[in-house]
Amino acid sequence: MAKIFLVDVTNRDGVQTARLGLSKLSKTMINIYLNEMGVYQSEFGFPTTKHESNYLRANLKLQEIGVLKPISLGGWIRATVGDVEKAIQMVPEIQDLNLSISTSQQMIQGKFRGSKTEEDILKMAEEAIRAARSHGIRNIGVNAEDASRTDIDYLLRFAKLAKENGAHRFRYCDTLGYENPFSIYKSCKRIAKEVDIPMGIHCHGDLGMAVANSVAGAMGVIDGGQDAYINTTINGIGERAGNADLVAVILALKKSKGLNRKYHFGMPVQLSKAWKLCKYTSYSFDIPIPINQPGVGANAFAHASGIHADGVLKDPENYELYDFKELGRGEPQMVETGREICSGEYSGISGFSHIMGKLDIEFKNREEAEEILELVRYANVQAHKPLVDDELHFIATYPDITRQLLTMVPQNC
Ligand SMILES: [Zn+2]
Repeated sequence: MAKIFLVDVTNRDGVQTARLGLSKLSKTMINIYLNEMGVYQSEFGFPTTKHESNYLRANLKLQEIGVLKPISLGGWIRATVGDVEKAIQMVPEIQDLNLSISTSQQMIQGKFRGSKTEEDILKMAEEAIRAARSHGIRNIGVNAEDASRTDIDYLLRFAKLAKENGAHRFRYCDTLGYENPFSIYKSCKRIAKEVDIPMGIHCHGDLGMAVANSVAGAMGVIDGGQDAYINTTINGIGERAGNADLVAVILALKKSKGLNRKYHFGMPVQLSKAWKLCKYTSYSFDIPIPINQPGVGANAFAHASGIHADGVLKDPENYELYDFKELGRGEPQMVETGREICSGEYSGISGFSHIMGKLDIEFKNREEAEEILELVRYANVQAHKPLVDDELHFIATYPDITRQLLTMVPQNC
């Protein structure tokens, strides 16, 4: 039986959202948490963007030394030979690439303005996939941007061509959130069956259906006999109205009526990591989690009205579909309400030693403490807010990798 895998695109789609961004250290921590959660791949960034190179290479180093294992780290590029070559030149260790190109008439005409035909798009994709293969890329995904507004016969040709040239996955992108669960099920099932290729499902929430469409699309892919790779973002953060929320997708597949009897994850998913991951991501993006967010919102397990409160006290299952502990909630949280010493870009050794001492992080000597303090200052320059305990631990444990991922030297600009 075909299975469902999760591909989280927070570090790609999430960070390209207007008004939002993440420091390179935050992106790294998110990769670590996604790995702990059982996510198959983090689409971790843009290998052709200069300021990403050191971060991407540092994370591939973490993969090599087993910190980011078994998660796959996929780079996002345009499906052109130029982008493939640039990606490999800038991030030589990269092994997983997702190649993206617009396939709808709207975008071919509206973006390329007559300079490209449908046949040109097929040729570009073919050449890019071949280039990726010739450079030994292990895992090649091909993304059809605006697939949902693409003529289905052309899309089938496109997906077949991707497969024939060695692509490992075909991504059906509902770039504008145009789909509904019934239509996406049908299209995905047909493509999976006729093209015989594992499929990614990438949905947006412009009509409020990103999670439902992702689940229905994945059902279609599996009923078509192929593995499905659902694209998610943490807290649903992404372009415009956002992407399919990671936790909501997991909850839907595990808890929705009858679904878990037929559709299964290909890797064990640790839902208990959800609370920490979502809180951290909210802090890093500097945007609150909506109170009505499934699973992790402040009201997800709150009951005020008489009948509900009475019912849930008698038996939680009266008014709750799942337990808060399943999401890693319920632990008391310490919030400092008095004096607080926190990290900053102008921190000194005394305050820093105090912070690290509280975390039981010890240094061999003063030189080592000074070195880590310097890295913490740099991390704060990017973060613009106090670092969290896990970040401080990370810096103290992997100073060389931290130095690499924080280094940004504008060159040839
Ligand atoms: Zn997107």
